[in-house]
Amino acid sequence: MSIQLASVTKSFGTHKALNGVSLSIEAGSFFVVLGPSGCGKSTLLRAIAGLEPIDTGEIDLDGLPVARDGFHLAPEDRQVGVVFQSYALWPHMSVAGNVAFPLETSGKRRAAVSSRVAECLESVALTPFMHRKPAELSGGQRQRVALARCLAQGAGTVLMDEPLANLDPHLRAAMEEELAAFHKASEATTLFITHDQREAMALADQVAVMWDGEILQVADPDTLYRRPVSKRVAGFIGRSTLVPVVVERVDDGEAQVRLGEITLDVDCPQDCIPGPATLLLRPEHLVLATGSRGFEGTVERTIYRGGYWEVFVRVGDVSQPLLMLLNRKAAVGDTLRLDILRGWVLPG
Ligand code: ADP
Ligand code: MG
Repeated sequence: MSIQLASVTKSFGTHKALNGVSLSIEAGSFFVVLGPSGCGKSTLLRAIAGLEPIDTGEIDLDGLPVARDGFHLAPEDRQVGVVFQSYALWPHMSVAGNVAFPLETSGKRRAAVSSRVAECLESVALTPFMHRKPAELSGGQRQRVALARCLAQGAGTVLMDEPLANLDPHLRAAMEEELAAFHKASEATTLFITHDQREAMALADQVAVMWDGEILQVADPDTLYRRPVSKRVAGFIGRSTLVPVVVERVDDGEAQVRLGEITLDVDCPQDCIPGPATLLLRPEHLVLATGSRGFEGTVERTIYRGGYWEVFVRVGDVSQPLLMLLNRKAAVGDTLRLDILRGWVLPG
């Protein structure tokens, strides 16, 4: 099932939780909405699920309107499954009972229900736990029950609201892999909401970065990382240094820029023009120079990150120290010879 939103707004009192959101989510894709707490992610998900009526705009599922102009299709008629952060399991029912419940209430035959439940529990590796109660499971296992229940309903579209947020880091990594496998097996269109950019990068086909009720950029993870459209997106995804530069020459997506005394060749948007601009440097764009190449910088600050150091290097009169990663220790005050391999001139 594909999902389209056109100029969707939703206010709570005077607060615009959704401020003209337009999105197009391809059938079968793993689409992540990434944004800080309070930016409107859950409201967006609830609007798609039908749990929240919208004020204006339109939501289509597979090309058919489910919300527009006062029309609101009930959640149970939208055929989307929802997995919430709190797993919302029935505590008095067994694992199998929880997974079976939506099937039973939909009037399926008992034999069909139990074989479907067995299949879904197998796919999330919970078969040995089927007779336990939710209280006798770990957080990760409970989340898998919620996933299995979602699978059992056979929803062609699955909406997940920060489903991994309550899990320990090691469990999260394992669950990320399970989610990816789950998506591949089910081929369900998956809308996954998170405030964790690492999670978004690991799982998504496409990421929409959301901020204060608006979508700032939609792109695949690599494009988002390498070619963010604004300082805000650049700052939200990965580590970076943003420095003022002067664009001197532009040629088909490449620019020559001046950073203090240094001239660099970097990537830029097609519509980049000469003049003052902001350059994004990712830590891996900075390396130690070889031979006579490069320029000098002074180590201003270092932080050990386990196996490598983050090193902030002051270069000439550049307004900020540049962040780079080194696999050896550098002392404050050391002089390093550096090279900048690439960079990205922010649009605008
Ligand atoms: P997120 O999921 O990104 O953390 P939400 O969608 O939950 O954000 O909330 C977005 C904004 O809308 C927040 O400022 C929140 O306080 C507000 N909000 C959400 N739901 C309601 C509600 N039912 N009533 C009033 N305000 C709400
Ligand atoms: Mg939320």
